[in-house]
Amino acid sequence: MSQIIDGKAVAADVRARVAAEVEEFVAAHGVRPGLATVLVGDDPASHVYVRNKRRSSEEVGIASIHHELPAETSQEELAELITTLNEDDAVSGILLQLPVPPQIDGDAMTALVDPLKDVDGLTPVNAGLLMQGGDGLVPCTPRGVMELLRVAGAELRGARAVVVGRSKLVGKPLAALLLAADCTVIHCHSRTRDLATECRGADILIAAAGQPKLINGDMVREGAIVIDVGTNRGDDGKLVGDVDFEAVKEIAGAITPVPGGVGPMTIAMLLSNTVEAARRQVAAREAAAQR
Ligand code: NDP
Repeated sequence: MSQIIDGKAVAADVRARVAAEVEEFVAAHGVRPGLATVLVGDDPASHVYVRNKRRSSEEVGIASIHHELPAETSQEELAELITTLNEDDAVSGILLQLPVPPQIDGDAMTALVDPLKDVDGLTPVNAGLLMQGGDGLVPCTPRGVMELLRVAGAELRGARAVVVGRSKLVGKPLAALLLAADCTVIHCHSRTRDLATECRGADILIAAAGQPKLINGDMVREGAIVIDVGTNRGDDGKLVGDVDFEAVKEIAGAITPVPGGVGPMTIAMLLSNTVEAARRQVAAREAAAQR
């Protein structure tokens, strides 16, 4: 029977830490960090996500600046808004909620965000810094996974980490973070020949494929640490992960549940990135003033 890693509790600790950092920032600089959320169109899930992000930022004292644009917004109009937010000192972080409507190129719009305000860590500059071992802003879900591994007491150095999924948002940055933490990383995806064998070799197994119960009990080595990023809707409307939790919890050394594992960490890390971004912008302005 494994240790159940309580993402809700860890996320609550992170939020409390961020709330204290926000007040320190306000005391030092006389302004609140601000998170701008940009939502284009009517996607119901996106509306729920953005509402949660706004509420969570306000709970830790971050100012929420919200822009809602109609589904027929042109790429030029969105680009203009992002440019305005880049130049606004009250905006510490910019979150462009994806997906955007089809007439807009989401990658191109993400790339327009000032890397110092890129709290999703998705601009080419921050993605590149992560690959090069630099000090950019790191995507929220992968950062959350690393924090859960730390709290679970995972020994990363030299460990064999298997990542299932290679998206820009989760799999790729996570593999880079694990590599930077001295893991030996095996990166799996839909073309991997023998997923079960690769997974069975893992000391640390991260599932981020978006496939309900892809990882079953036969694919996990006894004592492995299993982190389930997947959030899939089952036929009954309930959330189900990429890991067969009931079977794998009997084998793994530690495991995250769905819900209540990685999910709550993503928003907590977004808040943490927003304060970090605010600090970096102050430092950049001070450096510019001295030149
Ligand atoms: P994507 O759909 O962008 O990527 C899925 C990845 O999984 C791809 O690289 C794909 O491979 C791989 N994959 C798909 N099927 C298989 C398979 N059968 N075997 C091996 N690999 C497979 O998803 P995301 O990375 O955006 O998200 C992954 C999951 O994490 C989703 O369930 C999503 O909802 C969830 N998520 C949860 C978050 C949270 O806060 N908890 C935040 C973000 C995402 P290929 O590249 O070859 O197509």
